[in-house]
Amino acid sequence: MENNQWRSELRKKMTAKERTAIERVKMPELAPKIRRKNYKEVNCGLTSEQALQEAKRCLDCPKPTCVLGCPVSIDIPHFIKNIERGEILEAAKILKETSALPAVCGRVCPQEKQCEALCIHKKMGKQSVAIGYLERFAADYSLGSTSLNHRSPSEIEANFPKTNGIKIAVAGSGPAGLSFAGEAAKLGYYVTVFEALHEIGGVLKYGIPEFRLPNMIIDAEIENLKQLGVKFVINCIIGKTLMLDDLKNDGFRAIFVASGAGLPNFMHIKGENLIGVMSSNEYLTRINLMGAAREQNSDTPVFKGKTVAVIGGGNTAMDSVRTALRVGAERAIIVYRRSEEEMPARIEEIKHAKEEGVEFMILHNPLEYIGDENGRVRQMILQKMELGNPDENGRRSPKPIPNATETIDVDVVVVSVGVSPNPLIPSSIEGLNLSKRNTVLVDESTLQSSIPTIFAGGDIVRGGATVILAMGDGRKAARAMHEKILNKEI
Ligand SMILES: Cc1cc2nc3c(=O)[nH]c(=O)nc-3n(C[C@H](O)[C@H](O)[C@H](O)COP(=O)(O)OP(=O)(O)OC[C@H]3O[C@@H](n4cnc5c(N)ncnc54)[C@H](O)[C@@H]3O)c2cc1C
Ligand code: SF4
Repeated sequence: MENNQWRSELRKKMTAKERTAIERVKMPELAPKIRRKNYKEVNCGLTSEQALQEAKRCLDCPKPTCVLGCPVSIDIPHFIKNIERGEILEAAKILKETSALPAVCGRVCPQEKQCEALCIHKKMGKQSVAIGYLERFAADYSLGSTSLNHRSPSEIEANFPKTNGIKIAVAGSGPAGLSFAGEAAKLGYYVTVFEALHEIGGVLKYGIPEFRLPNMIIDAEIENLKQLGVKFVINCIIGKTLMLDDLKNDGFRAIFVASGAGLPNFMHIKGENLIGVMSSNEYLTRINLMGAAREQNSDTPVFKGKTVAVIGGGNTAMDSVRTALRVGAERAIIVYRRSEEEMPARIEEIKHAKEEGVEFMILHNPLEYIGDENGRVRQMILQKMELGNPDENGRRSPKPIPNATETIDVDVVVVSVGVSPNPLIPSSIEGLNLSKRNTVLVDESTLQSSIPTIFAGGDIVRGGATVILAMGDGRKAARAMHEKILNKEI
């Protein structure tokens, strides 16, 4: 049946009043006292009944404002109405048209600041449609039932894109690199993704912990890319193991740089070099990727700490502090210099952290760390803060309260105050234009850099941003590169 016909029939099945009267679904979750001791995913996903009921809440607005809030303009009502009529695979297909990894985005996108913030229900004083939960529902359903792993060889062959023989290299296997690879492979290119680490997935694997994003979700997507012919080379650092000229000599026509922003920022205060003070990047990578918290057989064990303080208020800080609890900390504390309202972390992460017993020391800022005779951190001095006037972005700036400090005992400090672009690739390529912050400068519409055969996207261009923006960049760059190759511009 034509899209317009079934949708208009579906719309008539319930009045807008009936739809808005339905309460927003609650995500089934593991109980805090159980989950704070393990890495099981906290959000369990909607049941089919819950998803159907939630889909009915969507009014299928003629001018859907939710779409305006989505950084990649997913056709939100179209996928939700497919859930309502029971065509879940069709819903997943619509998501896939715009988002390369919807099962990931359904879990980690800050929907409350994007699509859900602009849902018409909010204007009516109601809770928005749970767009993120529905995205996850459709994507998980599709991963479970139609993953290419379950297909016969002939089905896989039938889906294999026609190749054009042109080789393209990708540096970095985070969401930008993966979405580029998928798109370029579908356009017929031989794509090889080079990854510095021993695991594929970028921050999705080494940063975001399993209790928020299980690795099997990312692995299923990687398997799908492999089935499309994408090759992965791990433990290969572009700019060190292989230089740009090596790639050229190897026949790669162009390269997509997606090396992310994994260089941690520090505060440069006294005591930051003490043992036990580390970046969240180091803390999470060692635990998530290298089994550092294992009781036995870890090559890089981390000191678990009785009192772990995490400095910062973003998603990375929340992931670190909740990881500290799971590793066995008795006290896990967020130290943040502004108030909770200004915290950049997703609201759900803050809620989950509190439920699990994380303490929040808001309006506090570290001044100094104090160590013992072995050079290990033992205490930190905190400056108490208050909020001043809003800055140019409308965020109220924190300012110190004179003579108001506090000293607390700590044995691990995780610094999570932002990241900078990974410098190796930008610094190893002569003629590549960079910004003052060392991000790669690109043409916004094509993501082409100052060197015509090099495109770039994700955090290496934006600084620390989001998964959905990185994915959007990957796809956009693949299409733009294809255009330039077809036009023989590169
Ligand atoms: C702990 C944490 C939690 C987060 N939570 C969220 C969230 O909830 N929601 C959200 O939207 N965003 C979140 N983010 C941000 C989001 O993960 C990033 O914006 C996104 O991953 C950027 O994607 P990317 O592909 O550009 O880079 P990355 O994911 O950083 O991937 C870059 C990859 O390139 C590799 N690499 C680097 N240099 C080289 C080289 N020279 N050669 C080869 N490979 C190289 C790296 O090893 C890495 O695997 C979080 C970030 C962190 C750290
Ligand atoms: S704004 Fe809300 S109700 Fe309207 S189409 Fe989008 S999700 Fe549905």
